[in-house]
Amino acid sequence: MKIQLLLICLFFGAIRLQAQVQNYWQQKVDYTITVKLDDVKHTLSGFESFVYHNNSPQTLDFIYIHLWPNAYTSGKTALGKQLYESGDPVLTFGKDSIRGGIDSLHFQVNGQDAVLSFDAKNPDIAKLTLNQPLNPGESMTVTTPFHVKIPSGEVSRLGHVGQSYQITQWYPKPAVYDKNGWNQIPYLTQGEFYSEYGTFDVSITLPKNYVVGATGDLQTESEIAFMDSIQGKSFSERGLPKDFLGKKSFPKSDKEWKTIRFTQKDVHDFAWFADKRFLVLKGEVTLPHSKRKVTTWSLFTSANEKVWKRAPEYIRDATYYYSLWNGDYPYNQVTAVDGTISAGGGMEYPNVTVIGNTGSDIELEIVIVHEVGHNWFYGILGTNERVHGWMDEGMNTLNEMRYMATKYPENTYLSDQILNGRFHFDHLSHYDSGDLMYRVIGGVGEDQPIETHAAKFIDINYAGIMYQKTGLVFTYLKEYLGDSLFDQAMKTYYNEWSFKHPQPEDMRATLERVTQRDLSWLFVDLIQTTNHIDYKIAKVRSFGGKTAVTVKNAGQVDGPIEVSGFRDGQKVQTLWAENGSKKSEVMFDSEMDAVQINASGKAPEIVQSNNYWHREGLFGKIEKPQLQFLIGKNEVTRSNLFWSPALGGNAYDQFMLGIALHNFSIPSSRFQFLLAPMYSFGGKRISGIAEISRTFLPKNSLKLSRFGISLRSFKNDTLGTNDGYYVAVLPYWAAKIGNRTGGPVTQNIRLQTMYRLDVFRPKQRELLGGYIQYNFHFKKEDHQAGLEFRTDYAANPVNSDNFSRSSLAASYKYRYLKNKRSRWVELRLFAGNYWNFNMYNSGNTANYGYALSGSGGGQDVFVEDYFFGRSALSGIWSQQRLENMGGFRSTVGNGNSGYFGTTTSWMTTANFYLESPIGPKIFGLYADFGLFDEAFKSVPTQAWDLGLAIRLGTTFGIYFPVFQSDNITNSYATQNYAERIRFTLKLNLTNKPIDWLKLMP
Ligand SMILES: [Zn+2]
Repeated sequence: MKIQLLLICLFFGAIRLQAQVQNYWQQKVDYTITVKLDDVKHTLSGFESFVYHNNSPQTLDFIYIHLWPNAYTSGKTALGKQLYESGDPVLTFGKDSIRGGIDSLHFQVNGQDAVLSFDAKNPDIAKLTLNQPLNPGESMTVTTPFHVKIPSGEVSRLGHVGQSYQITQWYPKPAVYDKNGWNQIPYLTQGEFYSEYGTFDVSITLPKNYVVGATGDLQTESEIAFMDSIQGKSFSERGLPKDFLGKKSFPKSDKEWKTIRFTQKDVHDFAWFADKRFLVLKGEVTLPHSKRKVTTWSLFTSANEKVWKRAPEYIRDATYYYSLWNGDYPYNQVTAVDGTISAGGGMEYPNVTVIGNTGSDIELEIVIVHEVGHNWFYGILGTNERVHGWMDEGMNTLNEMRYMATKYPENTYLSDQILNGRFHFDHLSHYDSGDLMYRVIGGVGEDQPIETHAAKFIDINYAGIMYQKTGLVFTYLKEYLGDSLFDQAMKTYYNEWSFKHPQPEDMRATLERVTQRDLSWLFVDLIQTTNHIDYKIAKVRSFGGKTAVTVKNAGQVDGPIEVSGFRDGQKVQTLWAENGSKKSEVMFDSEMDAVQINASGKAPEIVQSNNYWHREGLFGKIEKPQLQFLIGKNEVTRSNLFWSPALGGNAYDQFMLGIALHNFSIPSSRFQFLLAPMYSFGGKRISGIAEISRTFLPKNSLKLSRFGISLRSFKNDTLGTNDGYYVAVLPYWAAKIGNRTGGPVTQNIRLQTMYRLDVFRPKQRELLGGYIQYNFHFKKEDHQAGLEFRTDYAANPVNSDNFSRSSLAASYKYRYLKNKRSRWVELRLFAGNYWNFNMYNSGNTANYGYALSGSGGGQDVFVEDYFFGRSALSGIWSQQRLENMGGFRSTVGNGNSGYFGTTTSWMTTANFYLESPIGPKIFGLYADFGLFDEAFKSVPTQAWDLGLAIRLGTTFGIYFPVFQSDNITNSYATQNYAERIRFTLKLNLTNKPIDWLKLMP
């Protein structure tokens, strides 16, 4: 019965699989375009005709048309908004001359006028309503004239710099209609494309002395002769005037014009690049499988000649290796164009790629290889790049990593690019640098799934996850399967899906079928989630000349893992532990004295410190702990231990000098420690900080969870030389809430506990306490909103003193001035209440109350922040305040004049801040209003102030009051104006997770 059922399942399964392949369909669009370049007005005028073949099973009443040049019309387009949000408001506030667009459209379908209606939100998307429905199997001819104003090259991919032209995403183009329906998408810089396959027949008219690189095969005899005549010629041989990069000088345009024609089949886009200054190198590559010869073209300006002279080699090798590993290049030519327009990077189009400015040979080689490689992963395998960006960028990165490892097996020169090879980052390969990037991002819980919509990736993940992590996980698959099976699978994918639109499930089906393996650990865990790989050695047993290793899956991915055995430091044997959800065992043929999981580093495991076992040695590490300076790469087989001098200072310890010992490394370890004892010259004792923490990267709900305990002791008053210091022990739990899928919201929670001893002469004060704090932050376009909820509790264990309080602070920031200087207006509301307050010493009212001007050193009960004069009641150091609690920007008189400005009952305040609309951003205007319950008063007290400020980010600010309510004015001991100036200095010592992300270039 069971077997029968299984057979039936298999039978239907097979039918379904076959049905899927059989039912696949795609539309086809065959273009004929004539276009003329006006290089004085920087415009294109053209006429387009395309035959649209409806191969879908549905009848179409309309088709979506992309008019992507319209993305450049204003700052209100999807492109304009994306650039604006990424800090480049060029379309919003740039001059009119930098904008572009497409107009003069007049659509006809089969010779009859048809209605074009623009998308309400996106001027680069339009709907063409058909006069007659287009039935399955039918074709129609669509025609329109068009006129394009070419935008400035500084905006995005389509553009010109002077008379250098990058003509891309430039003509009216139907959106893809596939099994998921219409895929109409606005043009974006971060986020690529999806287009229908078909044929192109494009005729370009322009002054005769332009050199053009384009998609397709050149058909014009005279132009073929022209290209052959200039190829290999130097600048002077060409008789070109001297030209330098940045000078934007161009030779005069020829009075005579030419029309050149390119044709190509089985491509989904057409781009062309024209520049009168291009030098040309022609080359050739023989394809590895068919032995067919393909022509290569390198087009570059003389400014970049030095690095570009080797370009033909890079194009040749890229074409060769991509063909070798994936399948032969199916077209006749490959062109790489030096695009002096964009700064760095490159962009792919069928047959032709544009390369940005690069400084070094190796950088240029990597970019050319990457962009040429897109002919396979984008050009031939036409995936939906906007939604599944990894299918082109990531698969391409895999091949790019493999190319570098194959061509340069001893490759270490990338180390020069990361911190100049210092801090033990030498011997990094191209693969290693991608691996490091992913592990640093993953280690701080900021990674997003590989399968994330291109526009939803945060900046660092677009590169670190979509490109790099995909390259890593497919390298991992390749190592596991072995090159020959992996290549067989990729070639099958190429053969089955070339010139088609494979979806992730199609790729998975092909790879699983060829390899006969369940690859859900890859296609589900590693691609669709942020689940982390982590394997560890559970047990090593040697018997009868063999070594058995039990490998435990301590992570969230049930994949295979490589286990290697070593003898006398030499790798003897490598085995793979198969898909273990818990434990699995591998058996080495001989006795090993060391065992390492993932010794090749090809499984992207964030934490690798549990990967090594050695017969002898402390902590199972083969190399003795070695003390290194400052910081370094996190080594698997070595205990990471670093040192640096430690310096410090405050009003009482005065100068402090010591040493910091820690294991902070890149990527960070889960267990971290820091020991920083310093000699206090003011206290004549040891001050300093010690901290240990353990980080967890849970699968759900939390991005990162960290338990830690820190110890700090500093002098905090001036009463004596040997006392007046505090010792605080601070165990905590901190977490980033969320599921790593991105979005505009971030949330943090912190549970802090404390034991604090303040040593005064002659008595001691102890305090036990804790708080829980929740922060919510929302950020979108011009809006930022925040919420902070916090409850504190503290008690003196010696007597019955205690207090508990809760507060809620809401803040809202709006970018009221939107120009390159971007100015914000801020509003903050605070409400705090004491549930109880019993303190023996009335002086505690000032220290343990909510402070109108934010906490100074006295109110920093949990010693969270840096105060130069922690217990200062007068003088400049008493005017250092944090922007918390009441948040007033001017100080309120301290100690001497009673306790005005603090409450142990309740307080509500409103704080307003306006960044100056004129002059530098550091100037601003503030106003505060507060209502609070002052001790011994029968009615609530009101206070307000208004003044001018200078702020440097959120770290430092100085506030000069202009008007204050009388009660504030009267609270100062003297009428000295300087006393009223408040400053903020926020160094954020404790609440910042120790992350080294910022150290990355
Ligand atoms: Zn790319």
